[in-house]
Amino acid sequence: MTSLDLNPPRYPNVSVRHPENFKWPDAKACGVTIAWHMDGEAGPVFWEREKGPKHLAAISEAAYGITTALPRILELHRRFEIPATFFVPAHVAERHPHAVELILKDGHEIGHHGYMHENVFGMELEDERAIFEHANAILQNLTGETPRGWSAPGWAVTEQTLNIMIELGMLYDGSLMEYDRPHFIGTAQGELVELPISMVLDDWAMFGGGIFPYSQAQIMPADHAHQIWLEEFNGLRHYGGLFHSTFHPNLTGRPGRLLMLAQLFEQMRTHDDVWWGTCEQAAEWLMHLDNK
Ligand SMILES: [Zn+2]
Repeated sequence: MTSLDLNPPRYPNVSVRHPENFKWPDAKACGVTIAWHMDGEAGPVFWEREKGPKHLAAISEAAYGITTALPRILELHRRFEIPATFFVPAHVAERHPHAVELILKDGHEIGHHGYMHENVFGMELEDERAIFEHANAILQNLTGETPRGWSAPGWAVTEQTLNIMIELGMLYDGSLMEYDRPHFIGTAQGELVELPISMVLDDWAMFGGGIFPYSQAQIMPADHAHQIWLEEFNGLRHYGGLFHSTFHPNLTGRPGRLLMLAQLFEQMRTHDDVWWGTCEQAAEWLMHLDNK
């Protein structure tokens, strides 16, 4: 007799639905949603609520993405006329209202990214809902609108999370990885649009790391990221998928990497069969396709 549990595990009851005859607007070959995760101070503070805010070096490293990198990132997006979505923990938005203004002034979208970049995996329903509602209230106050979509801090998302988003009337999630085209995900509560992400397009793998409470950083040449992201763009363009980035302003917003990103944007922009939009616009497109 073995003591191992050899029964199949119970998976959550989450369904997937692909719209019939999916296509990109104007019959484009693929879609691009450039998403920035502006985690800021919420990273170190979430992990060490008491000590995090006092750690000047960690806070300064986090804030670099906002005070120093963000204006340069916005200039890059203006130069190439590329729309973007910024997923911002609401605490970071309340600490840097001017950054929120700059993002909105350029017509970009602000998405939900928790209050303090909470990892909600395994969290009690009431606590998780409180985070969603608290962050919604802050972002609504600062931007005049309730965020339509969410991307999960630390890619922590459960059926409960999807239910909360549906209950709050949100439009899309951008945290899952099974497909590479927009589709619908459903629970017993209803449906959301899913805008799949990929670890390949997440800069954390190349440049990630934190000073506190961690102590290690991955520091690859920007050329490596350039090669990986261009390869993935070419592949997604071939297969008709969504290039949905996860760039962090304090990582990819470093000067040498921004020069690389300008090069990448320029190369991607040479193709006229690419659809560019915010995450909200991509999700709206799927709703439109579904209602036709
Ligand atoms: Zn994040």
